[in-house]
Parts: sequence; structure tokens; C-alpha cells
Amino acid sequence: MNTFELDESYIAHTYKRFPVEIVSGKGSLVKDASGKEYIDMGSGIAVTSFGVADDAWIAAVEEQIHSIQHMSNLYYTAPCAKLAEALCVRTGMSRVFFGNSGAEANECAIKVARKWAAKKKGPACSTIVTLENSFHGRTLTTLAATGQDHYHELYQPLTPGFAHIPAGDLNALKSLCAGGTVAAVLIECVQGEGGVIPLELRFATELQAFLKEQDILLMIDEVQAGNGRTGKLYAYMNYGLRPDVVTTAKGLAGGLPLGACLLSEKVKDVLSYGDHGSTFGGNPVACAAALSVLNRLTDPFLEKVVEKGKHLRRLLEGAPGIQSVSGLGLMLGLKTEKTASEVVKACMEKGVLCLTAKDKVRLLPALNIPDDLLQKAAEIIKEACRP
Ligand SMILES: *Cc1c(COP(=O)(O)O)cnc(C)c1O
Repeated sequence: MNTFELDESYIAHTYKRFPVEIVSGKGSLVKDASGKEYIDMGSGIAVTSFGVADDAWIAAVEEQIHSIQHMSNLYYTAPCAKLAEALCVRTGMSRVFFGNSGAEANECAIKVARKWAAKKKGPACSTIVTLENSFHGRTLTTLAATGQDHYHELYQPLTPGFAHIPAGDLNALKSLCAGGTVAAVLIECVQGEGGVIPLELRFATELQAFLKEQDILLMIDEVQAGNGRTGKLYAYMNYGLRPDVVTTAKGLAGGLPLGACLLSEKVKDVLSYGDHGSTFGGNPVACAAALSVLNRLTDPFLEKVVEKGKHLRRLLEGAPGIQSVSGLGLMLGLKTEKTASEVVKACMEKGVLCLTAKDKVRLLPALNIPDDLLQKAAEIIKEACRP
């Protein structure tokens, strides 16, 4: 059997795959089994921050893999300690818990919020509020956090204690909080899966002020928008926010599984010995990769991400068949006259890999995509969008 047949037979049918087998690549170019080349405008869903098979990334991984590939969390290892320091120095947060995915990072945040509120305000204060149209993961608890009913239907009962408000509706939040049972609010600054929709600045600012006044935790899900994607190290930095908890994953280690839950001074001691754990969490190879990624996300580099984002937006905005462009930095969503899946299919035929998010075409290229490839991809996308 070939790869398609093996996959169809033996892999659970949770992914509707395109009939393309990707075998290799370099930077922002990937190749399929027939040798056809594609410009990768999806980066494995915002994961390969510096593209595929990037030399500096390979060197960081290789160096660590020759020393030790895993050690239990019963012992100290340097890569996770150094990465935690770097994350705290760059964000002003105080401590980090490492897991392996975005969902796991959010699970940690939710546990922190529940324990913090239970101890400080009593066990009835357990509700986590999230936004409608949000996405926080696929575990039963992060599904409950996800504000999209269609993900919930067949998996009841989900973890209780979640409520959802429309983005921008502070009054809805205020009435939920009136009973004193809300422990935390968890938001994405740019909703990714929900259609690449940035939060309004005014709402973000007012939300933070209200939560501070009420002593409710502000938790930000930076799983997709973090790690340089929006042109700041974390998307909340575009909004001048000071979150109590930050979660991230996807692009953090540039292509290895790693999730992190960053804890501010206020909640850094909530979890104590035995409260939480993860066998693979803080894996030295993943952490060495992440440290190399983080060290390359310098201010001058992030300015280039902003420039590339603006450039891509200019190339696409107003083109025939493209109704609007949303997003921040190199995280863009296109509302198109044709359906998003039609556009993605046409792009693929012409050698560009794009994603969808709800009814949008979603673009998440590598943060270092060369300008000529960005230009070429934009031309092909425009051609695919033309009615
Ligand atoms: C992808 C995503 C998650 C889930 O991450 P996994 O690594 O798939 O568990 C959570 N939140 C946001 C905003 C995401 O984009």
C-alpha cells in the first residue's frame, strides 16, 4: 500500500487531508512525493517559525540530541531552565510550566485559575469566561473553554464551569461577574481558528481594567498568535496588556512539541509540588529548539515580521475577489468572493499551501519567508481569488 492507502486504513479519520504527501523542504519551500514544489503559507499551522529544515534550528536540535534526548522531571536539565529564564526575562512573567501542546498549556492555566480562586475566594469561585468563537484546544476541558458549540455537541458532559461572552461585550462580562463566581477570563488577542479576528484595543484595555478592579485573572492564549507571529514577541504586547497567565505552544519550538504556561508574580506559587506534571514536559530537545527560536526573535527581526506582514497585506488588499484582509503581522485572514476551500484548492494546484479558518483563507507563513517568495505566493493567491 502507498502512504495514502496506509493512512486511510490505519489512521483514525479525524483529519480530512488533501491528496498530497509532503516529503521534504527547505525554508518556505516544501516538496511533495512527486517532486512538485510549494510555497508554504501555513507553516504547519504557525509551527515552523523559521521554515522547515532551517540550519540554525537543526544545529540547536542536533547539539542537544547528541547529549541527552529526555530525562524525567525528577532531575534538573539545563535547556528547560534556560528557556524558562529567557521566557520570563522577555515577558516579565515569573515562572513557567512546560507541557507539550497548546491544549496542555491551557489545561495548566485553568488549573492555576481554579486553585488560585478556590484558595483566595472560596470553591464557588470557579468559572472561567472565554469569548464566543474562540479556540482553546481539543481535550474535554479545553473544548469546554472553546466558545464554539459545534465542537461540543457529541462530547457531553464537558468539564463544567465555563461561560462565553461575545468579544467586545464588557457588559455581558460584568453581569456574569456580578455573582462573584468568576475566577478568570481567557482570551486570544487574535482569534486564529475563529477566522483571524483581532480583539478591539478599547475592549482589551477596558477588560483588563475591569478584571484588575474585580481581582479576576486575565489569561491570554498565545498558542497561535504568540512567538513573533504578530510582529511582537506575544500578541498581547500589541495591546499593552499585563496578563496574569500566558499560554503558548505552536511556534515556540519551531516544529517540536512544546507548550508553556507562563505565570505572573501574582500566581507563581499557586501550583506546588505534586499539583501538576507532564512526563515529556520540558523535554530538553524541544527546549533547546525553543531557546534557539526565542533568541532569534529579536526586536530588529520582529520589525521585519511587521514589514513583511504589511507588505503581504498591501499585495492582497483590494485585489479582485478579495473582500477584506484581517489580522496582525504574519497572521492574516482573507475574506474572499469564492469559498475559502475553493481558493485553497486552486492555490495548491498552482504551488502555494494556504489554510482556512471558518470562512476565511488563513495565511501563516514562516516569520523569515524571503520577500521574493512572499511576492510570488501573493500573486498566486490573487490569481486563485479572481472571480
Ligand atoms: C491550536 C490552538 C490551541 C490548541 O493547541 P494544540 O497544540 O493543538 O493542543 C489552543 N489555542 C489556540 C489559540 C490555538 O490556535
